[in-house]
Amino acid sequence: MIFIPRDDPFTCEHCSHAVEPLKKGTCRSHCPKCLWSKHVDHEPGDRASSCHGMMEPVMLDQSGKKGFVIIHKCTKCNIEKRNKAAPDDDLTIILFN
Ligand SMILES: [Zn+2]
Ligand SMILES: [Zn+2]
Repeated sequence: MIFIPRDDPFTCEHCSHAVEPLKKGTCRSHCPKCLWSKHVDHEPGDRASSCHGMMEPVMLDQSGKKGFVIIHKCTKCNIEKRNKAAPDDDLTIILFN
Protein backbone atom coordinates (compact mmCIF):
# COMPACT_ATOMS: atom_id res chain seq x y z
CA MET A 1 0.00 0.00 0.00
CA ILE A 2 1.34 3.37 -1.02
CA PHE A 3 0.72 6.13 1.48
CA ILE A 4 0.95 9.72 0.34
CA PRO A 5 0.12 12.23 3.09
CA ARG A 6 -2.34 14.81 1.91
CA ASP A 7 -1.95 18.16 3.59
CA ASP A 8 -3.10 20.69 1.03
CA PRO A 9 -5.77 23.19 2.03
CA PHE A 10 -9.05 22.70 0.15
CA THR A 11 -12.54 24.13 -0.02
CA CYS A 12 -15.31 21.82 1.14
CA GLU A 13 -17.65 21.06 -1.75
CA HIS A 14 -20.55 20.47 0.62
CA CYS A 15 -20.54 23.55 2.91
CA SER A 16 -17.87 25.75 1.23
CA HIS A 17 -15.78 25.84 4.41
CA ALA A 18 -12.11 26.64 3.75
CA VAL A 19 -10.38 23.60 5.24
CA GLU A 20 -6.90 24.12 6.63
CA PRO A 21 -4.44 21.20 6.62
CA LEU A 22 -3.77 19.45 9.91
CA LYS A 23 -0.60 20.68 11.60
CA LYS A 24 0.63 17.20 12.38
CA GLY A 25 -0.37 13.57 12.34
CA THR A 26 -2.70 12.02 9.80
CA CYS A 27 -3.80 13.55 6.55
CA ARG A 28 -7.13 15.35 6.42
CA SER A 29 -9.71 13.40 4.48
CA HIS A 30 -12.87 15.31 5.30
CA CYS A 31 -14.32 18.68 6.28
CA PRO A 32 -14.21 19.37 10.05
CA LYS A 33 -17.44 21.40 9.93
CA CYS A 34 -19.91 19.17 8.06
CA LEU A 35 -17.71 16.02 8.02
CA TRP A 36 -18.43 15.36 4.35
CA SER A 37 -15.64 13.82 2.35
CA LYS A 38 -14.96 13.18 -1.30
CA HIS A 39 -14.33 9.84 -2.97
CA VAL A 40 -10.88 10.39 -4.45
CA ASP A 41 -8.86 7.58 -2.86
CA HIS A 42 -8.68 3.80 -3.03
CA GLU A 43 -6.28 3.84 -0.10
CA PRO A 44 -6.03 6.91 2.14
CA GLY A 45 -4.15 9.66 0.32
CA ASP A 46 -3.46 7.87 -2.97
CA ARG A 47 -6.11 9.79 -4.99
CA ALA A 48 -6.43 6.76 -7.25
CA SER A 49 -10.24 6.70 -7.46
CA SER A 50 -11.95 8.13 -10.50
CA CYS A 51 -15.35 8.27 -8.74
CA HIS A 52 -15.12 11.81 -7.26
CA GLY A 53 -18.56 11.42 -5.64
CA MET A 54 -19.38 13.29 -2.43
CA MET A 55 -19.19 11.09 0.67
CA GLU A 56 -21.80 11.56 3.36
CA PRO A 57 -20.93 10.93 7.05
CA VAL A 58 -23.46 8.23 8.00
CA MET A 59 -22.17 6.79 11.26
CA LEU A 60 -19.77 7.31 14.11
CA ASP A 61 -17.87 4.36 15.52
CA GLN A 62 -15.52 4.13 18.45
CA SER A 63 -12.36 2.28 17.62
CA GLY A 64 -10.93 1.07 20.93
CA LYS A 65 -8.35 3.49 22.30
CA LYS A 66 -7.79 5.11 18.93
CA GLY A 67 -10.82 7.36 19.25
CA PHE A 68 -13.67 7.96 16.87
CA VAL A 69 -13.99 6.65 13.35
CA ILE A 70 -16.37 8.24 10.88
CA ILE A 71 -18.11 5.95 8.39
CA HIS A 72 -18.50 7.75 5.06
CA LYS A 73 -20.81 6.53 2.32
CA CYS A 74 -20.30 7.67 -1.25
CA THR A 75 -23.44 9.26 -2.72
CA LYS A 76 -22.36 8.15 -6.20
CA CYS A 77 -21.11 4.56 -5.94
CA ASN A 78 -22.39 3.69 -2.42
CA ILE A 79 -19.02 2.44 -1.18
CA GLU A 80 -18.48 2.79 2.59
CA LYS A 81 -15.17 3.87 4.05
CA ARG A 82 -13.88 4.30 7.58
CA ASN A 83 -11.98 7.49 8.36
CA LYS A 84 -10.30 8.34 11.63
CA ALA A 85 -11.78 11.53 13.08
CA ALA A 86 -9.46 14.53 13.38
CA PRO A 87 -9.09 16.32 16.75
CA ASP A 88 -10.94 19.40 15.50
CA ASP A 89 -13.83 17.58 13.82
CA ASP A 90 -17.30 18.74 14.84
CA LEU A 91 -18.60 15.28 15.73
CA THR A 92 -21.81 16.66 17.25
CA ILE A 93 -23.19 16.76 13.70
CA ILE A 94 -23.41 12.97 13.73
CA LEU A 95 -23.98 12.45 17.47
CA PHE A 96 -27.05 14.66 17.67
CA ASN A 97 -28.52 13.90 14.29
ZN1 LIG B 1 -17.96 21.00 4.84
ZN1 LIG C 1 -17.68 6.71 -5.00
